[in-house]
Amino acid sequence: MNSLSSVKIIDGKAAAARVLREVRIEVEQLMRVGIQPGLAVVLVGCDPASQVYVRNKVLRAEETGIRSIEHKLPADTGEAALLELIERLNADPAVNGILVQLPLPRHIDEHRVLQAIDPLKDVDGFHAENVGGLSQGREVLTPCTPAGCMRLLQDSCGELAGKHAVVIGRSNIVGKPMAALLLKAHCTVTVVHSRSSNLRELCRQADILVAAVGKPRLVDASWLKPGAVVIDVGINRIEEDGKSRLVGDVDFDSALSQVSAITPVPGGVGPMTIAYLMQNTVTAARLQRPALLSHSTFAEASCPSIS
Ligand code: NDP
Repeated sequence: MNSLSSVKIIDGKAAAARVLREVRIEVEQLMRVGIQPGLAVVLVGCDPASQVYVRNKVLRAEETGIRSIEHKLPADTGEAALLELIERLNADPAVNGILVQLPLPRHIDEHRVLQAIDPLKDVDGFHAENVGGLSQGREVLTPCTPAGCMRLLQDSCGELAGKHAVVIGRSNIVGKPMAALLLKAHCTVTVVHSRSSNLRELCRQADILVAAVGKPRLVDASWLKPGAVVIDVGINRIEEDGKSRLVGDVDFDSALSQVSAITPVPGGVGPMTIAYLMQNTVTAARLQRPALLSHSTFAEASCPSIS
């Protein structure tokens, strides 16, 4: 049992503000050599949540000096027209990053669209070439949420090598790339999912537990090793006491008795995702101009998630 005062609540908002400051500095450096990083954000349809996400991305881009280019397409846009736009963005030297807001309307094949993005402009890190590169440990554009989680871990636990990390969830967006990044950081990694047996016992062995499930408060103190560091990726909206609220996959209040550090929801992983989208945009600008790769300032600041 912990003394609650010794538990570190990992402040994702403050960490994201630090990442955005670093991005801003890097944008200024790039601008001195005549490059203003550009991010194209493509939204098909008018899903209200997607509109909010896109607005936030555009705002963060402007704050960091990244030029944002919004493409809002009607919900009945055909796949061919979307692929044509992506081809144009691939060929446009002013566009360094391309983000297609998901989900896409059902008549569009999401996989085909994501694979059409130039891997060097794939700031979501979802292209098969980047997914493969990450699993080979190469320097590639990495999905933003796991990259943000790694930064939180590096900032709050220091050395990760040799730690046992358990990731709950095996999605392409969070679970799998998270496991690949932890492996790259020399952790011993276990991935568990809905078909795993002894889930709780496996989680109890974790020095680092990353929960990316989408089940409100699935993990409580009985799942945690004393002193564990917990990164809660889950975002779940629930109704409680007549109010609508956001909670994670971890029962935060219960977990406090066991953990040494934990991310809250909201205010933990969420803000880091968007910060790493900006980081990936400047990294993409650098990767597209290999001459800049050797510049030590860029190399240090651009890829904190890549060891
Ligand atoms: P997915 O639904 O794609 O994946 C969920 C994973 O959890 C699957 O691998 C699934 O297993 C596993 N799972 C489901 N139920 C259980 C269970 N009872 N026990 C163990 N494993 C289980 O979700 P995402 O990865 O996209 O997202 C996960 C959560 O993270 C969501 O709450 C989402 O909102 C949030 N999220 C937050 C972000 C942020 O910025 N903070 C960004 C992205 C996501 P199986 O593969 O067997 O089905």
